[in-house]
Amino acid sequence: SVPAAITSGISAGTRRGLLIKGGAALESIGHVKTVAFDKTGTLTAGKPKVTQVVGENQNEVLRLAAAVEAGSSHPLAKAIVEAAKHAQVTIPAAADAGALAGKGVTARVEGRRILVTSPSYAASQTVLSETHTQSIQLFEEQGHTTVVVLDEQKTIGLIAIRDEPREDARSALLELHQQGIKTLMLTGDNARTGAAIAKALGLEVRAELLPEDKLKLIDGLRLQGGVAMVGDGINDAPALARADVGIAMGGGTDVALETADAALLREKVQGVSELVQLSRATMQNIK
Ligand code: ADP
Ligand code: MG
Repeated sequence: SVPAAITSGISAGTRRGLLIKGGAALESIGHVKTVAFDKTGTLTAGKPKVTQVVGENQNEVLRLAAAVEAGSSHPLAKAIVEAAKHAQVTIPAAADAGALAGKGVTARVEGRRILVTSPSYAASQTVLSETHTQSIQLFEEQGHTTVVVLDEQKTIGLIAIRDEPREDARSALLELHQQGIKTLMLTGDNARTGAAIAKALGLEVRAELLPEDKLKLIDGLRLQGGVAMVGDGINDAPALARADVGIAMGGGTDVALETADAALLREKVQGVSELVQLSRATMQNIK
């Protein structure tokens, strides 16, 4: 019977670490035409590491940046706090911390207004020096994400961060292509970093997207057929909700688990094509 086939499909998923929230979710995933992926924490491991610090006093750059990032759960924030601890600097307290969605974070540290942001947002707040601009460009071409540390309008330094692609990402994307599915990476990161990573993984990319841009893109893609969105829930819960099928990478964030229709508990990109395969096989049994 139909309910029995669905139930056994869902439990087959559970055994493989694929959490599927009901029959409707299981059915839709096999029909998607496009799978859109968030970059950070989804196609990449989400464990970025600081690779370079640029500034007159590198420990001072790390110290102030870490103070602001201490209150953020973003993977970039964790990398910066980690690097500051590693450098054995004492991280001062921050007040009035706030996120600039998809752009960075800000807080008051020792009476100064410190911002840690994307280069493009920094450029809207100040004039970046030629040297800094060139360093940023070079880091980005090498697939690093660079953040700028500002004291009001004064640039204190740059921090380059690298997040390695997940080991199975490239082959997992190939499998989706073999299933006749289009793939696309959506990222708030800058175009050069996005392009470097997308090229290594073999998929298309739309970069420098704000959270609301991701929603518009998903709406556009949905005109051409079903869309699945895969993300880790940090900054991308609305996109997971907007897609026909929202897939959470990992059981990491509660937001993602609540919003998503399915979750990849084993944190493998491969899980997406496994879900498609499971859905198609289940629907085949019902016909
Ligand atoms: P992605 O789409 O790759 O997951 P996000 O939308 O989470 O990226 O973030 C986009 C960009 O905003 C980052 O590349 C970074 O430049 C900036 N940003 C976001 N959060 C932070 C943070 N906590 N600290 C510094 N920069 C941040
Ligand atoms: Mg993200």
